[in-house]
Amino acid sequence: MDKQYDLVVIGAGPGGYVAAIRGAQYGLNVAIIEKRAELGGTCLNVGCIPSKALLESSEHYHQAHQNFSTHGIDLKDLKVNLKQMMKRKSDVVSTTTKGIDYLMSKNNITRIHGTASFKDTHTLSVTANGASQDVTGERFIIATGSEPSPLPTVPTNGTTIITSDEALSLKKIPKHMIVIGGGIIGCELGSVYARIGSKVTIVEYMDRIIPTMDAELGKHLMRSLKKLGIDFQLKTKVTGVKEKKNSAVLEAENAKGESVSFDSDCVLVSIGRRPYTTGLGLEHVGVNLDERGRIKTTHNFQTDAPNIYAIGDVREGIMLAHKASEEGSACVEFMMGESPVIHYHLIPGVVYTWPEVAAVGYTEEELKQKNVDYKSGLFPFKASGRARVAEESAGFIKILADKQTDEILGVHMIGPRCADIIGEAVVAMEYRASAEDIARMSHAHPTFTEAVKEAALAATENRALHV
Ligand code: FAD
Repeated sequence: MDKQYDLVVIGAGPGGYVAAIRGAQYGLNVAIIEKRAELGGTCLNVGCIPSKALLESSEHYHQAHQNFSTHGIDLKDLKVNLKQMMKRKSDVVSTTTKGIDYLMSKNNITRIHGTASFKDTHTLSVTANGASQDVTGERFIIATGSEPSPLPTVPTNGTTIITSDEALSLKKIPKHMIVIGGGIIGCELGSVYARIGSKVTIVEYMDRIIPTMDAELGKHLMRSLKKLGIDFQLKTKVTGVKEKKNSAVLEAENAKGESVSFDSDCVLVSIGRRPYTTGLGLEHVGVNLDERGRIKTTHNFQTDAPNIYAIGDVREGIMLAHKASEEGSACVEFMMGESPVIHYHLIPGVVYTWPEVAAVGYTEEELKQKNVDYKSGLFPFKASGRARVAEESAGFIKILADKQTDEILGVHMIGPRCADIIGEAVVAMEYRASAEDIARMSHAHPTFTEAVKEAALAATENRALHV
């Protein structure tokens, strides 16, 4: 029987919609199936875009409240209009998701609304509003993403005990928000509410925050977030929660093994995300999961069913939008007989707090563990003219390079605009640059990027010029 489509993509997040576009660029007849009314997945609807919109707005308020007077700008009666802040966030989300609608129609991709479930390796049943239709295809890409990981001892209720989904749409500013988990999402959303007036406590099981990043970054970020008023309870294990009418009491065991409790009108459970495969009917097509519930795939994203592929958060690897998108493109390229390469250790990670944190490559802890002989060059933003002009002198850039070859092995930074500055490090490392290569390149003055050159100079025989 003829199949309706050459390629059917399930899930329209940054993995799925990019794969669909790449397929269309090859001239394939592509359909994309999404159960949400809007395209864009977690990233556009309840992830990257809304969180960054709120981070942007709350940072403006914080700057106006704390720092404008230093610049000679006096403001009276400054206050937060949360309703307007949330409306702007929703407007940004809606404009961005509509942009994906446009991209789908521009590329002649058929959009199907509904929840997809495999009947066999060439047929999906797609259900929406109680009605089902069959969709047939030659090849399929599963890009169904992830969902917040639950904490069994702290079940969410959508009001006083919430996940990041609800934290992006609160109707009032919590008096005391407790964030369980000092990872990226916890630090970002904790920052949003701390900036606009909430008392925020981050409770973290480990002895540091953002534990997957270079330890020095976590230490520095914690210092900055403490200045913002965020309280940290590290080495603290959450044991349960007692719900009250409009509040919740979180119970935990602190570093000394003592039982402690925290009263709060909002508990945000932010302990990570888990792959989402519910209802996909994988058992009908022989697609297997690994021990962590992720779809098992080969290096070219093929599952145990050879015409079914998986990309993004639903398979192994770091859960980031740009990782999902790279896999979307590469997966289709493999299907078309090409041999794309993704350098996974060169996928940058960013925390959009202020100061921003960004990194690419190996951390110092990883290099030590691998017994690599490395050298380190560090440049503090307080020595940067541009940072002083901006009153943004917190943080540093650190470059780690191989001691013998000078090849850059890792770049770790915390400071102003680091989310953008990290791009230079990614390019350099993709081309296997040495620290001296960067040290010899001209960087415009005065810019924040001069700190990259200075850190590279510091790594090259300790030759930084401005410290
Ligand atoms: P998703 O974006 O999760 O998309 C999967 C889609 O599949 C969803 O729309 C879902 O509705 C749909 N779907 C699922 N099952 C079915 C089915 N059976 N039928 C039809 N449709 C289905 N990453 C970054 O890189 N930068 C950031 O700044 C960042 N910030 C974040 C902030 C927050 C608060 C959160 C929660 C996440 C953030 N992330 C960020 C992570 C990022 O959102 C994810 O890594 C990314 O969205 C994964 O893309 P994906 O395409 O794999 O899946």
